[in-house]
Amino acid sequence: MSTTAPACPQCTLDETHIDGTNHVCDTCGYEWPVEIADTAPPEETVRDANGVALADGDTVVVIKDLKVKGSSTTLKVGTKIKNIRLRGGDHAVEAGGYMLKAEFLRKA
Ligand SMILES: [Zn+2]
Repeated sequence: MSTTAPACPQCTLDETHIDGTNHVCDTCGYEWPVEIADTAPPEETVRDANGVALADGDTVVVIKDLKVKGSSTTLKVGTKIKNIRLRGGDHAVEAGGYMLKAEFLRKA
């Protein structure tokens, strides 16, 4: 059970307390189950083209020719890149010094 009081989903004020298995809002009286309110948002998982979760240190293969932004370099399909780093955001994967979209990569 969490000891931190989450904000009320109804009125968004955070003066809430736990009563049994429910959170109760002190402001508007709204009650909601502790389990739901305590569910942490899923960690942002970076997935490759096949939906496989990627992790730091993975090796990936480029699945289509990728023009590297800001340079004349093209990463050819089939290029293997070792030791990737996940950065999050749109171009979530740092691979070989490039910031790449995970959707164009496949875990090797
Ligand atoms: Zn409330």
